[in-house]
Amino acid sequence: KTETEWAELCGLLPSWLEASRQQAAYGKPASYIPELAHAPADALGVTIMAPDGQKISAGECGHAFTLQSISKVFTLLLALMDQGEEGVFRKVGMEPTGDDFNSMLKLELVEPGIPFNPLINAGAIVISSLIRGKTPEEKTERILTFFRTIAGDASLTYNQAVYASESATAHRNRSLAYFLKDNRVLEEDVEEVLDVYFKHCSIEVNCHHIARMALVLALNGKEPDTGRELIPRRYVQIAKSFMITCGMYNASGEFAIRVGLPAKSGVAGGILALVPGKYGIGVVGPALNDKGNSVAGVHLLQTMSEACDWSIF
Ligand code: GLU
Repeated sequence: KTETEWAELCGLLPSWLEASRQQAAYGKPASYIPELAHAPADALGVTIMAPDGQKISAGECGHAFTLQSISKVFTLLLALMDQGEEGVFRKVGMEPTGDDFNSMLKLELVEPGIPFNPLINAGAIVISSLIRGKTPEEKTERILTFFRTIAGDASLTYNQAVYASESATAHRNRSLAYFLKDNRVLEEDVEEVLDVYFKHCSIEVNCHHIARMALVLALNGKEPDTGRELIPRRYVQIAKSFMITCGMYNASGEFAIRVGLPAKSGVAGGILALVPGKYGIGVVGPALNDKGNSVAGVHLLQTMSEACDWSIF
C-alpha cells in the first residue's frame, strides 16, 4: 500500500460512507428469506485491510450478517481443491447467464444440462455436492474449517435462525436441485446437499471477516500474516474471473465498468471486493437494488474506486 493513499482513505472514508448511506433509501432488504427482512435498511459499514494487517473501517463495520452468495466463491475454491479443475467443470460451466441468480431458465441449455456457472444457485448447489465428506455434517464441518482459516476467526459459524428460515422457504432452490438430480448432474441425496448449501449461505460474518477473506484472494491465495499458501494461485485466478463475469448478478457488466474490481455480493447486503495485490474490502448495506446488490455498498465502492483509480481495466 502507498502511505499517501492510505492516509487519504483514512481521512475521507467516513464522509464517503455517510454520502453513500443516503442511497439506502432507494433499496430494501431481501425478504424472500423471511429472517433477512429484519436487517436495518440504512446500516452501512466498510473495512479495508492491507497486507500488513492494518485496517481502516467506517460505519457499522461490526454489523453481523450472513454471507449468502459470497460463500459460493469459497465453496467453489474448496471444491476445486477437492476435485481439481476437471472434476468441477464436468459439473458446472464457465459462462454468465444474464438471468436471475435463482433462475430455472437455461438449465437445459449447457451440455449435458449442467448449470452455466458456479455462482448462480443451481451451480452453487452442485458445488456443495462436490465438497469432500462422507456425510453432510462432515462436508459442513470442512467448509467451516476452511472459511475460518480464510477469515482468520476460529469462532466463525452459521446463523441457526437464518439457516432454518431459508431451509423452510427454499421451494425454488429445492425445485432447481431436484431438476439437477433428475438430470444426474446432482448425484447425491438432494436434501443432504441442500442442507450443506443452506448452512454455508448462513455463515455469519462482519466487514472485518470479508475484508480478510478478500485480502487472501488479493494475495492470490496467500495468508496475509505468514505468506503461507492457503489456496493454489490457479484456483484463485478462476474464482476472480467468475467474480468479474458473474459476481454481481446481472449487474456484473455495469459493476465492471463503474468499479472495475473482482467482487461478489450476497442477498444479506454484503459485498466482498479486492484490489489485486493491495487490499481486501468488506462492505455491508442490507438495502438491495432490483438486481439484488447493496445499493449503498455499490455506491461506496464506486466512490472509492474512482477516487483511488483502482479499476483493473
Ligand atoms: N441462500 C441464498 C439463496 O439461495 C443465496 C442467494 C444470494 O445471496 O444470491 O437464495
